[in-house]
Amino acid sequence: MKVDDVYVTPNPTSPTRPVIIDEKMCTGCNACVDVCPADVFIPNPRKGGPPILVYIDECWYCSPCVDVCPVEGAIRLNYPLMWRTPWMRKETGRRYWVGMKEPPPPNTKPLA
Ligand code: SF4
Ligand code: SF4
Repeated sequence: MKVDDVYVTPNPTSPTRPVIIDEKMCTGCNACVDVCPADVFIPNPRKGGPPILVYIDECWYCSPCVDVCPVEGAIRLNYPLMWRTPWMRKETGRRYWVGMKEPPPPNTKPLA
């Protein structure tokens, strides 16, 4: 049995995947492992391998793991469905969503 077979077993009680790592892009630098405040990952015992998600239910969707990754696109958050709802500003047509990197300033317009 390979060591990956032991560690990569999905958590059967929770099929959620808060973080998705592209194994082809990831260099295994473990910057995301070090920065995660909830210790969701552990380093891969195989050198250069992608981190292994162990405590997926602990994820806060706070995103420093994505921000610190030196390889654009190697890791991304998989927001729960109810968080993905985008909304649009009527005046500009610009779309917004929860967790976006540069959120708009708060709407301070008085209610009509
Ligand atoms: S979103 Fe936050 S809690 Fe979740 S894996 Fe990334 S750094 Fe850790
Ligand atoms: S920070 Fe990015 S490249 Fe480094 S281990 Fe995490 S996902 Fe892979």
